[in-house]
Amino acid sequence: MPIVRDSFYINGQWVKAKSSETLSVTTSGTGELYATIPAGTVEEANLAVEAAAAAFTSWANTSPKERGELLMRISEKLAERSDEIALTIANEVGMPLMLAKGIQAGLPTMTFADNAQRAGEYVWEEEVGNSTLVREPVGVVAAITPWNYPLHQIANKVAAALAAGCTVVLKPSEVAPINAFIFAEIVDEVGLPKGVFNMVTGLGPVVGEAIVAHPKTDMVSFTGSTRAGKRVMQIAAEMVKRVSLELGGKSANVILEGADLTKAVGDGVFKCYLNSGQTCSALTRMVVPRVHLSEVEDLAVAAAAGLMPADPITGASLLGPLVSAAQQQRVRDYINKGIDEGARIICGGVTPPEGLEQGYYVTPTIFSDVTNNMTIAQEEIFGPVLSIIPYDTEEEAIAIANDSNYGLAGGVWAESDEKAFEVARKIRTGQVEINGGSFNVVAPFGGYKQSGIGRELGTYGFEEFLEVKAVQHN
Ligand code: NAD
Repeated sequence: MPIVRDSFYINGQWVKAKSSETLSVTTSGTGELYATIPAGTVEEANLAVEAAAAAFTSWANTSPKERGELLMRISEKLAERSDEIALTIANEVGMPLMLAKGIQAGLPTMTFADNAQRAGEYVWEEEVGNSTLVREPVGVVAAITPWNYPLHQIANKVAAALAAGCTVVLKPSEVAPINAFIFAEIVDEVGLPKGVFNMVTGLGPVVGEAIVAHPKTDMVSFTGSTRAGKRVMQIAAEMVKRVSLELGGKSANVILEGADLTKAVGDGVFKCYLNSGQTCSALTRMVVPRVHLSEVEDLAVAAAAGLMPADPITGASLLGPLVSAAQQQRVRDYINKGIDEGARIICGGVTPPEGLEQGYYVTPTIFSDVTNNMTIAQEEIFGPVLSIIPYDTEEEAIAIANDSNYGLAGGVWAESDEKAFEVARKIRTGQVEINGGSFNVVAPFGGYKQSGIGRELGTYGFEEFLEVKAVQHN
């Protein structure tokens, strides 16, 4: 039986939706109906912002230590319900359960714990000359999140905003929203004061735009597509609201002469395909020395063969389906575009993997001899599609990496960390991993160029939600 959710979380209570209009959520692995959620209205979005505004002054005046204690309780409850959260996200997003446990359920637990600790330890005031600088929360935050790492993206915003003393209205993704309902239950259980956290589900152009436009919203923290991010920024500009944007990416993985090709290519293929390629920081362009192209191709095809998709719940693969039929079609269209523009397909293609015609599976695909002006090298595909781009000189490799409207992430592989770091400094992106360096939950995450504005995670992510006041004294 599909899960049925019919209420929003507003002002410390579950409030039945006014309209009977619902949105459907599908099970990615089978294409069956997984859940229905209420489609919020502008009126309900406004109620949520009013509640957050009414709660702000008192929440902002609680001690940071007290806020930290509540956030730690949220972290503990997230850990207690992590199996349920992982299963939910494996169903609605399609990430294999064994990965979803650590990543989709694990990261939010860590982020809440990290912000709980930061609230208590942060230095809120400092002296500069004859001024005392006081950090204060920005106010009411509209948090709008996507579906690919749904609870991680919620936690990045909500944990930092609450720790800073802001109140929040969350509009989670309508594509993978059930994890957000679990989160709201946890918030309710730990007893956050009413109005501090509110959640209204629905469509972006309705609920999302209403919470951005509301005069009592002080800041918008948005993660999603560049298209929607631009729209959010335009609306927020009317009232000069602070905007932080985490948008798309087309990240390059530069493999330099002298790198260990077996390691670099195996790791690179996995980091392109993680979550079926639906990762904003996915390393989707593999930039390789032309002299090693054929060796790289062989290694990449072998790595892709080891990542054949399977059912995310019952299967034993590290690769699952895509999130939705629309996303599956979008990825197939890009594969056709790559073929049309003359890239050489060396594995995969538009035919689904054998035996997986139900659900939203795409066969892991690799293009070689891609040139950086091709659509598949410039646009975010958000599927298991890797573009291998050959280069002749190191300067050319760096130029290819930087020839993008995006600037979110990247990778460099070299014979030493020193050499990789030297090249990493020349890449215009918010993150670069060298020789396979792993994700760091307290390092700032965010983009240069059209990948966004601002940072999430760690101290930088927390400070996005603070204003600074200078008080001059004698
Ligand atoms: P999306 O932009 O379609 O939706 C994201 C959220 O914005 C959803 O909650 C949606 O309802 C809402 N929305 C849509 N239109 C809106 C509007 N006009 N006003 C206000 N809200 C609106 O993106 P998606 O398909 O959910 O997510 C995929 C995209 O997110 C990819 O481009 C990916 O790269 C990006 N992403 C970026 C990061 C990052 O940190 N940089 C992380 C994850 C995903």
